[in-house]
Amino acid sequence: MMRPRHTIQHRLVLYVSLCLLALSLLTSGISYRLAFDRELDSAISLERQLVNTIQAQAEVAVYASNTIIAEGVIEGLLANPGILAVQIVGKSSRHFQVGATPQNADYVTSITEYPLFSPVDGTESIGSISIVRNETMIRTVATRNAQHQTLLLLLHIVATALLILLFSRHLVGNPVTQLAATLASIKPGNGSRVHVPAKHANTEIGSLADSANALIQAAEAALAEVEALATTDALTGLLNRRALMAELANEQARLQRHELRQTCVLMLDLDDFKQINDHYGHAAGDTVLQQFGALLRNELRKIDRAGRIGGEEFAILLPDTKPQAAFVFAERLRSLVESTAIPYAGSDLGITVSIGISRLDPADAEAGIALRRADHALYRAKHEGRNRVLIDY
Ligand code: GH3
Ligand code: MG
Ligand code: MG
Repeated sequence: MMRPRHTIQHRLVLYVSLCLLALSLLTSGISYRLAFDRELDSAISLERQLVNTIQAQAEVAVYASNTIIAEGVIEGLLANPGILAVQIVGKSSRHFQVGATPQNADYVTSITEYPLFSPVDGTESIGSISIVRNETMIRTVATRNAQHQTLLLLLHIVATALLILLFSRHLVGNPVTQLAATLASIKPGNGSRVHVPAKHANTEIGSLADSANALIQAAEAALAEVEALATTDALTGLLNRRALMAELANEQARLQRHELRQTCVLMLDLDDFKQINDHYGHAAGDTVLQQFGALLRNELRKIDRAGRIGGEEFAILLPDTKPQAAFVFAERLRSLVESTAIPYAGSDLGITVSIGISRLDPADAEAGIALRRADHALYRAKHEGRNRVLIDY
């Protein structure tokens, strides 16, 4: 059963997306840090410029202990949205303080203190001006910056995932699924092979198809070998009993379709074969059986079928052969066997064969009945003195 699976694609998309997500979190963190530092630097330099512009005024205010000037300075600084509070502090005898640090928990703040010097000599420290900076604003800007970056990266991730899905389906998913479907439909022995489209032939898909074809070929070779083993008699190389019976059944079916044709069946049994075994040993008997098999093969036409159906019993199927012609063939065979010496261990072994013939009748209930008739003729041949051919009509 073939089930559509897309796990490779899905895993690919999942793993790449997760990696990109982790990367995007890292880059977002870095980009937040960079943006924060940048914003802070620019806020500090802006603040310095502001302090530079009001420094002289603040120094005069502290030196003269002039609250109005000091408040004017503070007001001017507070007009800047980045500055939350300002405090001007005078030292010792010129002690002077104006402005306050707000205790507002909603803001993240940082304080920078700038020294104030005497407006008379410009070197004596007379106090300081402390500025409370609004870092929440800086953080907000940096966060927005990082959010934009993250959003862009997320868009990239979605686009990448879709592209991976598309290409992996095109390059891997579909061809592999098709290959699997083709493989599932192939039955070793019917000659079919896996073919992949030319565009995939030089990829791993092509290699997979090549390997699958090699495997199918090996399976077919093994199957052919098993089939040959299952239908062949090991000693003589002729058909075995089962294969010969199948040939008989096929031929009978063919005769049922072609009424005018005639086919004959021969049963052969070596005469006094037991004596060969008894005199020369079992190996000699085997040699005789092999040689007899070779002789049969030599005498048969291409369309004839011969099999060893018992110890020293053989059967031959002669398609499109009338009983008289079968008799002529059998007689020639019998005579040839009689006149052929089989060399074995320095001796020449002589054998004879008795043969019974019958027509393969399409009207018989099964093909084996003709073989039984031939066997009956063979039995009579044995009874009448062996080394002869008889027909059972
Ligand atoms: P008949 O003329 O009546 O057929 O006499 P026979 O001796 O040929 O018949 P019988 O059935 O008495 O003996 C057949 C012998 O064939 C007996 C058995 O030992 C021998 N035989 C059967 N199969 C093999 C085989 O595969 N190899 C050998 N060497 N001998 C076998
Ligand atoms: Mg026998
Ligand atoms: Mg015999």
